[in-house]
Amino acid sequence: MHSEVASSGKGGKSQDFFQTDTMPVVFIGHGSPENGRGDTSFSNSWKQLGKRIPKPALILCISAHWVIQEGTAVTAMEKPRTIHDFYGFPEDLYRIEYPCPGSPAGAMLVQRLVQSIPVAPDSEWGLDHGSWSVLRNMYPAADIPVMQLSLNYNQPPSLLFEIGKELSPLREQGVLIMGSGNIVHNLMALDPNAEPYSWALEFDDIVKNNLVEHDVDSLVHYSRYHISALAHPTSEHYLPLLCVIGAAGNDRPEFFNESIFGGSVSMRSVVYGAGNLNL
Ligand code: ZN
Repeated sequence: MHSEVASSGKGGKSQDFFQTDTMPVVFIGHGSPENGRGDTSFSNSWKQLGKRIPKPALILCISAHWVIQEGTAVTAMEKPRTIHDFYGFPEDLYRIEYPCPGSPAGAMLVQRLVQSIPVAPDSEWGLDHGSWSVLRNMYPAADIPVMQLSLNYNQPPSLLFEIGKELSPLREQGVLIMGSGNIVHNLMALDPNAEPYSWALEFDDIVKNNLVEHDVDSLVHYSRYHISALAHPTSEHYLPLLCVIGAAGNDRPEFFNESIFGGSVSMRSVVYGAGNLNL
């Protein structure tokens, strides 16, 4: 049951947010943009997830596909554009729009909550396919405001874990915190017909076990594992997971879409704080 927050700003404009039960936190292995069409087993699970967790008032997505060079940013525009940030895919994927609203007020809330680093409001980005390919399956009506939080290769991975902890109170305000990446992601090795590579299975299993054991140190310092450079030649598809585990606190992980696509992309996804969904 949602009840609108009573506080009103100047001019009587009501808040965007709602008080609700604690929202789950999710990490989605998004894989190919083609999952955005909604006709794969992976996207079918995303549809079920959207139906079975409480409807959020607002979504904050940490996508692998927004990497910036300076600092940290949150999208703060009223109407985020749909970004088709992929190449060589069928034409229909470039026509997909996800016309959800943004949330300038939500961006301000993120700026207030994050203490580890200043968060700049962004008016240029929008929704990349790490966000919309998943969200159009979870919430096809596109009626929930969505913000994105950036990644930055120059920052230590531990910062994202800290930011996730600082953002955790958003869960009490009806905000769904969603990481979107892949627990194993090596496109150089991708072959649609390949069986899972041994290192892909091994790294996926290491991360799964560390999530189950709540071994935050090993998750943050994942690059210590000798196969991490194979599993993640670059870190952007792994990093959103760290923000998710920061926000999840001591909740227990539940896994779904536990498979390796194309030999080298783990589709393993994680939901915290939703009870047993059995997706
Ligand atoms: Zn991706």
